[in-house]
Amino acid sequence: MSARTVTSHDAELHGLKALVTGGGSGIGLTTARLLAARGAAVAVLDLAPDAATAPLRGYTADVADDASVVTAVAEAAAGLGGIDILVNNAGIGAIGTVEDNDDAEWERVLGINVLGVVRTTRAALPHLRESAHASIVNTCSIAATAGLPQRALYSASKGAVLSLTLAMAADHVREGIRVNCVSPGTVDTPWVGRLLAQAADPAAERAALAARQPMGRLVTADEVAAAIAYLAGPGAASVTGTALAVDGGMQGLRLRPV
Ligand code: NAD
Repeated sequence: MSARTVTSHDAELHGLKALVTGGGSGIGLTTARLLAARGAAVAVLDLAPDAATAPLRGYTADVADDASVVTAVAEAAAGLGGIDILVNNAGIGAIGTVEDNDDAEWERVLGINVLGVVRTTRAALPHLRESAHASIVNTCSIAATAGLPQRALYSASKGAVLSLTLAMAADHVREGIRVNCVSPGTVDTPWVGRLLAQAADPAAERAALAARQPMGRLVTADEVAAAIAYLAGPGAASVTGTALAVDGGMQGLRLRPV
């Protein structure tokens, strides 16, 4: 591989084909739309891809089920004419200490958040190897490194995504496949909306949550999508094995969202 000059066109993704898991909502849907707006052909893989309307192509699959991933990735690659960009974003939350979740719940969450990344990557790699601009971006979390209370299982799952990102970056660097991740803080998505809805006073809880953030506000899905698009695109051609924090300063300022 030879070095390349960064140009003003590097935010553009014309001619590239992207697959976004968990692209039916939140960060994934926002990312899919941004990649498409920058010129990529984009497929979404989700349990419920209905919100991924044209120009996005929706494919129904459960990242916890290898057969459905293999089928959906093959169909998406055929529909797009290949895969240059894989965004492993599908994920679920889990609350509690190690005493609060039983083995079945650990296996369920790790089966989605960790093995989901493995399955989709495995299915997409043959297509990525055919690309001259191959890139994988995983959605990690500040939880991987922050030591958050009441998030043992979720933190372990995202710690594994961080480790996988580094290992995959090493394994595939000589094949020209870059692997990075974003580590969002608290992002204003339907997921957070569902958590807030459980509070006695969701509006007050939302205000309190915002007040605990270094910037006094939640991160937006647009801001995470912009980071993913950067890592996925040609402007990041020399960037691999990196975790990009999009957390309003939480990690950089050594703060914890408690
Ligand atoms: P979201 O709930 O709005 O969207 C998640 C999407 O993933 C949904 O469309 C859902 O259907 C899909 N999905 C869930 N399980 C799936 C499965 N088994 N197979 C296929 N699709 C599945 O959530 P979000 O906030 O956009 O979160 C997206 C990612 O960002 C997750 O990996 C999450 O861990 C990560 N993240 C979120 C935040 C946050 O504060 N919202 C912070 C850090 C990291």
